[in-house]
Amino acid sequence: PRLYRQRYDAVVDIARKYQPKKVVDMGCSECKLLRKLKNESYIEELIGVDIDNLALESNQHLGQPLISDYLYPRDNPLSVIILCGSVADYDSRLSNCDMMACVELIEHLDPPVLEALRENIFHRIQPNVVVMTTPNADFNVLFKDFQGLRHWDHRFEWTRQQFQEWGNSIADQYNYIVTYSGVGAGPDGTQHLGQCSQMAVFIKSCKERIPIVSENRMPYLLIQESIHPIK
Ligand code: SAM
Repeated sequence: PRLYRQRYDAVVDIARKYQPKKVVDMGCSECKLLRKLKNESYIEELIGVDIDNLALESNQHLGQPLISDYLYPRDNPLSVIILCGSVADYDSRLSNCDMMACVELIEHLDPPVLEALRENIFHRIQPNVVVMTTPNADFNVLFKDFQGLRHWDHRFEWTRQQFQEWGNSIADQYNYIVTYSGVGAGPDGTQHLGQCSQMAVFIKSCKERIPIVSENRMPYLLIQESIHPIK
């Protein structure tokens, strides 16, 4: 399968392991991962957020129930909410989320936004599980005649060491345990370069939610909310 599908599969595997009820896909873009997560029966609340209003407007239908969802309704409820806003801003609709995915998001963020992401996700929202993927710069030597970055909108591409230093500093600061892996293996003999994408899974080490000032802030714009049929 294509690399982006392998990344989504890796996120779904993590979700199956932790069985989160409330899941946020941060930087959901074309809502493709949301569409996949809708099939996971243990999820009851699914929220997609992106700063790109246009991408959300043209793909929001993917959050809606399909004909098959009416024919074979779920046992438990599912609401899908699509919001337009930035990972730098706190919106109280994201609170109490069990799992957050940030798939190929961080490399698109300017330094102040990347800095705000740390505080917003790990201090304010405090999901029990956070999954992040980003390109593995160590792997770029395998691309023929390649220089620079894989995409014009990337602000950086980190080596495994850079990503792990960043992830470890977050885990230390906010009491998470982080493990690293990869998605998209290269040809035989290139294992030492890692995989095409690198992935970090952060697990909150203390299960209690550390209380923060309770605020009812909703800066994100509601694009769509849909309730799925149940039995
Ligand atoms: N996660 C999707 C996937 O893997 O298919 C899309 C990844 S795309 C490479 C990066 C996305 O991050 C874009 O849709 C972009 O609009 C979004 N993005 C950029 N800055 C953002 C921000 N500050 N807050 C939320 N999303 C942002």
